Amino acid sequence: MKKIALHWQIVIGLVLGIVWALLSSTLGWSQFTIDWIAPFGTIFINLLKLIAVPLVLFSIINGVAGIGDPANLGRMGAKTLLAYLLTTIFAVGLGLLLVNIIKPGELIDQQSRIDNRIAYELWAEGEDLQIKDGINYLHDPKFKERALEITNLTKSELEDATVSEKMQEADKTKGAGPLKPLVDIIPSNIFKSLGDNGLMLQVIFFAIFFGIALLFIPNEKSEPVTKFVDGVMEVFLKMVDLIMKAAPFFVFALLAGVVSTMAGNDVGKVVEIFKGLSWYSLTVALGLMLMILVVYPLFMKLFVKVVPYFDLFKAIGPAQTLAFSTSSSAATLPVTLECVEDNLKVDKKITSFVLPIGATVNMDGTCLYQSVAVVFLAQLHMIDLTLGQQLTIVLTATLASIGSAAVPSAGLVMLIIVLQSVGLNPAWIAIIIPVDRILDMMRTVVNVTGDVTVCSVIAKSEKMMYYDQEEPKEVVES
Ligand code: ASP
Repeated sequence: MKKIALHWQIVIGLVLGIVWALLSSTLGWSQFTIDWIAPFGTIFINLLKLIAVPLVLFSIINGVAGIGDPANLGRMGAKTLLAYLLTTIFAVGLGLLLVNIIKPGELIDQQSRIDNRIAYELWAEGEDLQIKDGINYLHDPKFKERALEITNLTKSELEDATVSEKMQEADKTKGAGPLKPLVDIIPSNIFKSLGDNGLMLQVIFFAIFFGIALLFIPNEKSEPVTKFVDGVMEVFLKMVDLIMKAAPFFVFALLAGVVSTMAGNDVGKVVEIFKGLSWYSLTVALGLMLMILVVYPLFMKLFVKVVPYFDLFKAIGPAQTLAFSTSSSAATLPVTLECVEDNLKVDKKITSFVLPIGATVNMDGTCLYQSVAVVFLAQLHMIDLTLGQQLTIVLTATLASIGSAAVPSAGLVMLIIVLQSVGLNPAWIAIIIPVDRILDMMRTVVNVTGDVTVCSVIAKSEKMMYYDQEEPKEVVES
């Protein structure tokens, strides 16, 4: 019998996980699923995350050292960052366009929106007071009541949503001065950075610096280091291979856990949660689908040419399904690297430099979602955002997506900063939290697909993509 391809096995695990969760919720077994099945999902994510930091470190050192000439590195680095920035701005633009056309926040009844507006005005007044009196309005009961009504959540579930925890996290990321983000990239102790998955930018900085220094030392000294780094990378990739053998089971556990946590022992609740937020979810989903099915394939067609539409999805299917199940670009990175090297035939020199940076800074799905979410929440509160405010969203969503860690829910935390940048109540994230996990899964697929697309474009422009074996000859002729 022909063996089913891994990504199909993962898809089957995913579907079975959802079916199991719905079944167990109907039969009142949700707690069993959460206690005995869901932990395997966490184990899976931990196993992948465990590899992410060292993989980023070694793969970038390897990539930089492999490029050889510092001038080439500079050119490629500039091209990579520019391409990532352009796709990000494009995604924010698409999000804003869709949310302004569909207006999902205006599709709920007028009276609720008026009430929301009143609550907003009270909050805005409270903001001033907060500055004066130091009162914490984040727990404003009026806001909470509205959030409860809109999302049909019970009070204890809203507490569960741990809005204030997210706010504290976001506060931590808010810088003191304009150059704070730059200062934050330079680690004062690399071992500390290596110990925290959230400090990936520092690891990237160190790896590039290390790689460049490696280029400047005599060959006989650098060679053993390069060989060691290359060997270590192989070991990590092998570890991923081994973990991926069990991926279908792990993905089953992951999905069973996520859906069971949402549904509890009442399947109807999942439907209820989505009903209130369906137009918002659909707008985000539509934007993300457009990116995956139209925008990226179009970029591939225009700039890469050699990869037919369906071959692209076949080639990166395992990375996409994994991104969907884990909601983490960092956890998916090892598989993304493999797919692009083995299936799209991109040279390792390019992948090991472009993809780890992309997984950390390029989040097209996240910024698209953030732009839709902010405008949706404004619409829900009858607030018309001016053109200036929408341009502010372009800027802050771009920066917020760059600053988001490649882990589940990171985009939601950074959304707080985007909301604040246009003077809206950051605690409104509570309204969209109920559907955030599923949208997180979808936007992570876009994040990963965006990295793959940019990587292919860069590889093609550097003549280091061998998907079509004729291609190098053609390029030489031109
Ligand atoms: N989960 C996303 C990622 O890892 C980030 C986000 O929350 O948007 O790519």
